[in-house]
Amino acid sequence: MRQSMTLIPTLREVPADADIKSHQLLLRAGFIRQTASGVYTYMPLAKRTLDKIESIIREEMENAGAAELLMPALQPAELWQESGRWFTYGDELMRMHDRHGRDFALGATHEEVITSIVNDDVQSYKRLPLTLYQIQTKFRDEKRPRFGLLRGREFIMKDAYSFHTSAESLDEVYNKMYTAYMNIFTRCGLDFRAVLADSGAIGGKDTQEFMVLSEIGEDTIAYSDTSDYAANIEMAECVVDYKRTTEEENELEKISTPNQKTIAEVSSFFNVNSQKCIKSLVFKVDDEPVMILVRGDHDVNDIKVKNVLNAKSVELCDHEETEEILGCPTGSLGPVGVNGKLKVYADHAVKVMVNAVCGANEDGYHFSNVNPGRDFEVDFYADFRFITEGDPSPDGQGRIRFARGIEVGHIFKLGTRYSEAMDANYLDENGRAQNYIMGCYGIGVSRTLSAIAEQFNDENGLVWPKNIAPYHVHLIPVNMKDDAQVSLAEELYELCKANRYDALLDDRSERPGVKFKDSDLIGLPIRVTIGKRASEGIVEVKVRKTGESFEVDKANLLPLIN
Ligand code: ATP
Ligand code: MG
Ligand code: MG
Ligand code: MG
Repeated sequence: MRQSMTLIPTLREVPADADIKSHQLLLRAGFIRQTASGVYTYMPLAKRTLDKIESIIREEMENAGAAELLMPALQPAELWQESGRWFTYGDELMRMHDRHGRDFALGATHEEVITSIVNDDVQSYKRLPLTLYQIQTKFRDEKRPRFGLLRGREFIMKDAYSFHTSAESLDEVYNKMYTAYMNIFTRCGLDFRAVLADSGAIGGKDTQEFMVLSEIGEDTIAYSDTSDYAANIEMAECVVDYKRTTEEENELEKISTPNQKTIAEVSSFFNVNSQKCIKSLVFKVDDEPVMILVRGDHDVNDIKVKNVLNAKSVELCDHEETEEILGCPTGSLGPVGVNGKLKVYADHAVKVMVNAVCGANEDGYHFSNVNPGRDFEVDFYADFRFITEGDPSPDGQGRIRFARGIEVGHIFKLGTRYSEAMDANYLDENGRAQNYIMGCYGIGVSRTLSAIAEQFNDENGLVWPKNIAPYHVHLIPVNMKDDAQVSLAEELYELCKANRYDALLDDRSERPGVKFKDSDLIGLPIRVTIGKRASEGIVEVKVRKTGESFEVDKANLLPLIN
């Protein structure tokens, strides 16, 4: 491509509203332009890089046995109503209606659409397993779109969905996807880690995230300093065995009588100063009540039980049940918790993580001066705390360390979550209808582009790894008025094209300083400067990454720029 014919609007100044490196550099190097908050135009260079990332993804998906299709962004509300997510997805789902008043959503993800497609067209067990994927624009009305492409409201995702007749078959495809993801992010040159993730209420180890290591990452990874263990902190919180500190033991003493098998309370992560009362949170795990007491004056709006290990079901108790379990009147006691996440252990080995955002801030909405054990009996022991650096690793090897990560991919065993809700079935060998067992596998394609930019840059600009650079070679004739330079540049440009090297020819009549600055900013792996010695057929090669440069005769150029 000739630079005069494409659009690479570089900027000298750092844009004021961009506060991380990748966002600044992608704007400055002319890769992206913001069209609305969280909505970007991919300029020609970004488009080429996206294409390269996508072609790596396509190759690896093909290897994993996934077939590409393309589903619509516009999705009828009925599908989301069937799955139930119309009512639970919240404001992130972009909703709208057509001229007839029918409700629609812009696809935030495609489990509903794909489940309905497969349900219509795949009736027999003989057609399973089946894995389908697409690379498509997604819409999520993020509360805080930020960091450019890292958290957009419109973004590109690769999403794959697999359909199975058995858990074993799902395991097999899940593992293939895991391998494909490892290959994809390795081929993109990224420094990343696969981590155990939080699977919501569905259960244990059946979901992993792929995290690009970066200080600006919004996720925290807890990993062992000596073993392979790595988990999203939300997940690690659920599995780390925690021993109370003396201070916490003392706090516990204050609220409970010594020999009861009871509730624990840990104050270290609440605002201890505002302990005016005790609040309780009662929920059931596999039908058995577990109660947590929380001290402090926290507001409760909503409590979600987020993650449960070793438990089939978890449900929050309402007021009446709470009273029944506690065996004492609770007045207008509401479910309570703290801002943030709690990790809870009950002594029958149920491990629960509760995501409690609070709301009972009116008088009478909580116990005052109530002493557990004295005022009511409690049968379960619970203990909770945030995991911290230095805690023992859950695999028993080493200590926990923290790192920050950018979630670029996520693989997930869904089971029958969608097929059950949407009554999506195949017929088994005996002609009986069975729900499809499903998996889903996402990659943030546009986020990956940003993550690469975040990891590969220096003080002069972007430094693209070869595999995903928009072009491989930047040809720069220093002086466009010099015929020898121009004709050699043209000759090398043709040579590159003929040998399938992607080349960008800076044929603009700009000052050399401008050309070089732009070239560093754009960050193509190889720069070839066609300058003073053009008449002798000698050019200068500069490797962007190392800064290494050398002169070379045009005849020897190609093998040297590989
Ligand atoms: P996050 O935790 O960052 O909000 P998510 O867990 O909601 O992401 P998934 O539903 O797992 O995202 O979607 C699959 C992939 O899509 C993610 O791993 C991520 O790479 C990408 N992705 C999700 N939300 C965004 C966004 N707002 N902008 C860009 N990419 C995104
Ligand atoms: Mg999200
Ligand atoms: Mg996430
Ligand atoms: Mg995710």
